[in-house]
Formats: sequence, C-alpha cells, structure tokens
Amino acid sequence: MIMTCALCNEDSLTFFTKKDAKSGVPLKLGRCRSCGLVQQINPPSDESLVVYYSHHYRQDYKKSYSPRARDVWRAGQAAISRLTFLGSHLSKTPSETKLVDIGAGGGEFAYLAKKSGYEASGIEPNIGYSEFARNEYQTQVSTADLSSLEPGSADIITMFHVLEHLPDPKSAIEKLFNALSPSGHLLIEVPNILQSDASPHNIYFRAHLFYFSLSSLVTLTSPFFELVAQQSQGNLRVLLRKRPAIGSTVYPSEHQVQSDLKSFERKGWWDYLTIGRGYQKLLSRPRRIVEESVVKSLRPKDILDGLYADWQGLQTDMRDRVTRRWRQTKLGFLTSMSVGITGIAACL
Ligand SMILES: [Zn+2]
Repeated sequence: MIMTCALCNEDSLTFFTKKDAKSGVPLKLGRCRSCGLVQQINPPSDESLVVYYSHHYRQDYKKSYSPRARDVWRAGQAAISRLTFLGSHLSKTPSETKLVDIGAGGGEFAYLAKKSGYEASGIEPNIGYSEFARNEYQTQVSTADLSSLEPGSADIITMFHVLEHLPDPKSAIEKLFNALSPSGHLLIEVPNILQSDASPHNIYFRAHLFYFSLSSLVTLTSPFFELVAQQSQGNLRVLLRKRPAIGSTVYPSEHQVQSDLKSFERKGWWDYLTIGRGYQKLLSRPRRIVEESVVKSLRPKDILDGLYADWQGLQTDMRDRVTRRWRQTKLGFLTSMSVGITGIAACL
C-alpha cells in the first residue's frame, strides 16, 4: 500500500474512496497536501499493466479491438485541435521536424500530423490498434512502449491521455527528455482533476493511476522541461521545451496549493452544470449522434481526409452530408412537434 506522494515523496496524503466510472468498483485514492497530486493507493503491478495495455485496455474501454468509425471521427477531431494548438505555438517548419506520438491508438494523430507536413510516426502497445494504424493509413506506428524510444530521436514528442496510466510518471518524463533532440518539445494532454467540465460520474478510473492539475503536472516536468503554453479548459494540455540540462524540481507556492485545494473540494454536480457548462454537452448530443450516423458508412481514411480538408477550409462532401442530415433531423423534430401540438389543440 502506497503511503507517500509519488511526486514530492512527502508523507502527506489525504485518503478518500471513489467508484471506478466503468465498473463501479471502489478505488482507494490519496491527494497530496503538499503538491496536490492525486494517486491510486493500491495500483496494479507493473507486469499486469503491460499485459493489460497490450491486450485488454481498448477492449474494456472501447468494447472493440480496433477503432470504429465514430472513434475515428472523434479522434480525428481531437487531432485537428491538437495540431492547431501545436502549430500556433511553434516556429519550427513541420517538414524538418521529427514528431513521435506516444500511445498513438489507431494512428489518427500520426496520420494527420504527417498530412500536415511533419515527419510523423507513433508507438502504441495495443496490438489491434497499432495494426489498424499501419493497415488503414500506412502510418509508421510500431507495436511498442516507451522503452523503444532511441535517445535524441525526436524533435517533438506528443502524448495524449497516456501519462495518467503510467506507474512511474517521473521516470517516463525523464525518458522523454532523453529521447528529444536539444530544445525539443513535448506536448502532453491529460484529464484535468480541477476542471469542472467533467461529469462527476466520469472522473475516476481504475486505469488512471494519477490525476493531474496544471500545477502538479508542471511540478512533475520541471526538472526536465519549461512551460511554453498551456490550455486548461476541458482537458489539460501543456507544451513544454526541453531544458539544456536536468535541474531540480520546482514546487508550487503555498498560495497555489491552497487555491488548488479549494477548486478540488468545490468539484461536484452543481459546479459541473454551472461553471462546467455540463448542460451544453447535453444540448450538443443530438448533433453528435447525427454526425456519427453519417460517418458510420465511411472508410477511416476518408473520415480523416474529410476532417483535414474541412480544417483547410475546403468544401467537403462529408461536411455537406452532415449539414443536410442535421437540417432534416431538426425539420423532422419541428414537424412532429407541431403535429403533436395541433393534435392536442384539436382535442381541447
Ligand atoms: Zn506531493
């Protein structure tokens, strides 16, 4: 049983129990009073995690051994948002930049990064997903984990929703530091434990060993990287630049620790529905269902090519079909509403 903080090694954990969002099984957690890091107290062993991520994880979470059309559609949209963020903060020319995506999943980001000019590749431990990336998009996604990274082999490393799954995030960050070329960049995205816009039912997962805030993530990476840009609406996204040499950890100020504690304690349904604008997610759901029903019949590569063309401001057949279907759905809804109201009025 873990009793100290994985980040600052302090014996300063406040323990609490939450249910795993998928299975409802209770999870024991600890929040560090010194740095704010939240971690699982009884994590699975390293060996069982390796087997889990190469075979079962995607099946447990996505109910599938390879991505479905709607997963490709969602991953493609996230990839475009990440590429936009990266492009707006970097002055490097993509064509001269080696980019490696860690935990590449079905290869959507690696494919779109390559399409936008980067010399992009990926690594993904799951056998089905990495094969899918190679077969569907002819991307260089190898079935491997972090240990396969060669020193100085990348100019940019991207890692989306991976760090929270790793048993030793500190040594993972050091590996990434070594794998990057001098002044190379690291783009990390993780769920934000302090954000209000995740439903309180959807925060704690058996597969998430750590839960970060901006300050605990910056603290973790501080010996190796400096912060270039961050976005903390929704997920936490940070762009970091490699330091010339490894330094010491910079811990958050007392004021920051107290302010993070307040945000952490305030989290709940009220916060989610008001500040987190949870109602907007509910309102945008019908449109999402319509979009996903349109792309269901498309090939994965056509979905990503359509999203890319759309991003470039081109008229696409896919976008036209989505817009048409959405208009028909709204019209259908309004017609049935007015028929219903007329019917009720006639009965009165
Ligand atoms: Zn700590």
